[in-house]
Amino acid sequence: YISMNIKTVAAQTFSDSIYSMNGISKKAVEEHMVLYQGYIKKYNEIQEKLAGLTDADYEAANQTYSLIRELKVELTFAYGGYMNHNIYFGHLGGKGGEPTGALMEQIVKDFGSFEAYKKDMKATGIAARGWVWTAWNYLEDRLFNYIGDAQNTFPVWGCLPIVAMDTYEHAYFMDFGSARAKYIDAFFENMNWSVAEGTFKMVKM
Ligand code: FE
Repeated sequence: YISMNIKTVAAQTFSDSIYSMNGISKKAVEEHMVLYQGYIKKYNEIQEKLAGLTDADYEAANQTYSLIRELKVELTFAYGGYMNHNIYFGHLGGKGGEPTGALMEQIVKDFGSFEAYKKDMKATGIAARGWVWTAWNYLEDRLFNYIGDAQNTFPVWGCLPIVAMDTYEHAYFMDFGSARAKYIDAFFENMNWSVAEGTFKMVKM
């Protein structure tokens, strides 16, 4: 018997302004929140299942199929779903515009201009099947727009996400149909850059 330190997660509180955005409807955000709650519920359920693994379960470990494999793989999906949406909803509900201060300076340094950064974000978002993250890479000392196809693909080590843009169909189909580019424009129009600036402050210093 392994006495694992079990951690559960709880829903974060987001600004009420995420329910009154331009372009991204209240209904779409409410439905999106149902999915968010689902990731939390499943993460916590997986935690309990891991705590209850028996010696027989451990002995049955197998890369093709085994309980420990399924729990540990889906844990990353559930936790990704939780963390990605914490960032996403955390910095939405703002007035768009451009970041200021150190974050803006770093964007200009790493992309040339804010317009160039947005162009790269937009193209990466069109090319993604799930997420785009603007992340600070501690080893490379730069911001980079990473692509993700699912909640648990493809984060890289040594990075901290500053901006998370959901490009799953569930994020935009209700409001924009298949016009993902228009949704990405709306995402930027509703960004609260002060939140991203705050995260970047913690990272850099
Ligand atoms: Fe989502």
